[in-house]
Amino acid sequence: MDLIPFIRNIPGFPKPGIIFRDITPMLANAEAFDYAIDKMIEPFVHAKIQKVVAIEARGFILGTVAANKLKAGFVPIRKKGKLPFKTDLESCSLEYGSASIEIHADALKEDERVLLIDDVLATGGTMAAACRLAERQKATIAGIAFLCELDFLGGRKLLQNTIHSVLHF
Ligand code: AMP
Repeated sequence: MDLIPFIRNIPGFPKPGIIFRDITPMLANAEAFDYAIDKMIEPFVHAKIQKVVAIEARGFILGTVAANKLKAGFVPIRKKGKLPFKTDLESCSLEYGSASIEIHADALKEDERVLLIDDVLATGGTMAAACRLAERQKATIAGIAFLCELDFLGGRKLLQNTIHSVLHF
């Protein structure tokens, strides 16, 4: 199945010069959505993933379904100030701004096998910060999966682990 027609390109959003990759047409199509998640998790189905860790907000949509399919738990990474319990914090720069992201301090156990998920790999700053949060809790990063990777930004250079992207732009 070709997923490219289900990704809508929005030039100039949220800032001039950015082409926003809008995944909502893919989410709205049951067959495309199901297929996209299967392709994201394909390399990791036998990787004994215990937790899927995903980044607010679009990462949640993909990550919860992926966790369910992998029979793993789900752990949210949220923008600063949203998680109610004690948190660990990291700052990151992204393609169109900067952010601080948090994880609950007790979210991951030592040596727990995690798969990190987000919709788009752009400059890699966000996912690199998410990896630091998981590593600080001594989890084992078994892999990182994206639906879309913006190859021209070279974001994977910031990441050390097995990286899998379904679509490349
Ligand atoms: P980065 O830290 O630069 O890799 O940015 C990744 C984060 O920003 C992800 O959570 C994406 O959802 C979002 N993002 C960055 N660039 C884009 C883009 N061109 N289209 C859609 N989302 C993007």
